[in-house]
Amino acid sequence: MKACFLNKPAPIETNPLQYGNMTAPQPASGELLVRIRYCGVCRTDLHVVEGELPPRKSPVVPGHQVVGIVEKSGEGAVKFQIGARVGIAWLFRTDGVCHYCCSGAENLCDNPAFTGYSVDGGYAEYIVAPEDFVYSIPEAFPDEQAAPLLCAGIIGFRSLRLSGIKPGGRLGFYGFGAAAHVAIQVARHWGIEVFACTRDTRHQRLALDLGAKWAGGTFAEPPEKLDAAIVFAPAGEIVPAALKVLHKGGSLVLGGIHMSPIPSFDYDLLYQERVIRSVANNTRQDGEDFLRVAAEIPVRTHVRFYPLREANLALNALKNDAIPGAAVLKIEE
Ligand SMILES: [Zn+2]
Ligand SMILES: [Zn+2]
Repeated sequence: MKACFLNKPAPIETNPLQYGNMTAPQPASGELLVRIRYCGVCRTDLHVVEGELPPRKSPVVPGHQVVGIVEKSGEGAVKFQIGARVGIAWLFRTDGVCHYCCSGAENLCDNPAFTGYSVDGGYAEYIVAPEDFVYSIPEAFPDEQAAPLLCAGIIGFRSLRLSGIKPGGRLGFYGFGAAAHVAIQVARHWGIEVFACTRDTRHQRLALDLGAKWAGGTFAEPPEKLDAAIVFAPAGEIVPAALKVLHKGGSLVLGGIHMSPIPSFDYDLLYQERVIRSVANNTRQDGEDFLRVAAEIPVRTHVRFYPLREANLALNALKNDAIPGAAVLKIEE
């Protein structure tokens, strides 16, 4: 099969992903073989490719927002019919037995596998995945619309939940890429006012088009104090700036898997029961709940297509904030 794989992490400007042939995987017991149609491009892929996340497998095929068709079922895999349209996300598998898995927090599993990081992902024509971690894609979404929902969408949704924001509340977004452009649609659906702080004016415009009450630069101060904010941009210097605009008791949620160091700041910014918390992965419940809500709304993603062979180009564009919405690899030539 054709695939883009990474032998060794390197700056994306050096085009470290190689396009070539690999042996297609075969489904083990309980697994599905999926023929991939589209794979979303996520900032986490960039962190894998550039080595900000320590390598877990080499070579590795990145990509964890996979939409495709079940081609073959491994022994005992009975949940999906051949030909069913499915999605595969970041959480590839958990051990199912650790303290976290047994207490409703499988996103924090002690022995997880992650798609496109510790196992091969979706920058390829085929992937295998355990059927228990595969999602059914609601009919409301065309394939290419669904791809960015599988990480950007689900993680944005978990971030919204963890922010504790209530209908009528005021919510800030720092960074307005793939995750934020989906999360704002859910937030607006819930009657939340959104304020977007992001450096690129195209992204500010997209935020306003999607119903933001206000949009400005990353360090511009929103016109009103916020009940909560979510930081999607991987820049630690945003943390004190965002704390400054939170109400007492407000929460700041850090939605990324990686962030540059957070500068020290005065305790006053945190005092008055403000909270900072990170988001790590998602549970399958988050994924299913999100896909249901997203289909109800229905969420519409803004996608820019790249052919599989141009995965380096897509990641370069992502790094340079050049994609309004989400980049998606079209796998079938
Ligand atoms: Zn576990
Ligand atoms: Zn992701």
